[in-house]
Amino acid sequence: MTGACAHPAYRRIRVVLVGTTHPGNIGAAARAMKTMCLDRLSLVAPLRFPDPEATARASGAADLLERAEVVPRLDEALADCRLVVATSARARSLRWPEWDPRWAARRLVEAAAAGPVALVFGRERTGLSNAELERCHALVRIPANPRFSSLNLAAAVQLMAWEIHAAAEELLWGERYEDPDPPASAEALEHLFVHLERTLVDIGFLDPGNPRQLMRRLRRLCLRCRPSQREVEILRGILAAVEERQRRP
Ligand code: SAH
Repeated sequence: MTGACAHPAYRRIRVVLVGTTHPGNIGAAARAMKTMCLDRLSLVAPLRFPDPEATARASGAADLLERAEVVPRLDEALADCRLVVATSARARSLRWPEWDPRWAARRLVEAAAAGPVALVFGRERTGLSNAELERCHALVRIPANPRFSSLNLAAAVQLMAWEIHAAAEELLWGERYEDPDPPASAEALEHLFVHLERTLVDIGFLDPGNPRQLMRRLRRLCLRCRPSQREVEILRGILAAVEERQRRP
């Protein structure tokens, strides 16, 4: 180690709290993060923030709250992220890739070599919606008592932050850490999905009146293989060529 909290991943792993209801949980999450060297906090449409209760619960981590990014929509918190991992207390019917906490932490630290990455936490009562989960590469469920599996939000943040800390301290880094062919950002993938959907409608493959699960399946495919920025550009190029062909008489 070259110094406390020196790993570059600590500044590239963003903890995203979606729709948090209790400001105390935001403060406690900031404290949990700081104990494990994480310091990038994004808040998507928090019910009450800033709030004295958040500051009180943060104790010595009020600096994280002051620097926290507050945005109205999840997409804005994820736009530049190369890997997005969601957390969920429940197994979902969505059939999305599921990673265990340790594996997810390693993947996040590794992927942070290419740029920002995100770990997303849901609302206290209802967690994350399916539409929000579909923006993520994988889900993490902290294995717990099957009859009482929902951790307090800040406790879940603490546990994941510890795994990230352990992974960062263990993984090699230095010159070899930077990634020369970074994976596509969340924003680039969203543009790809919009383009793909438009082209599929255009060529008559996707019936907008009866879309079934097609776009969800294609999303899952693309997110699973984590294409690089360059690969997404190739796919966009192919779609543009198809559109061009369609336009010709
Ligand atoms: N009823 C909600 C519980 C939300 S708890 C649900 O089923 O999702 C608030 C947030 O804490 C969750 O959205 C998730 O981000 C995190 N969390 C709580 N327990 C967790 C667990 N066992 N594994 C992973 N994340 C958990």
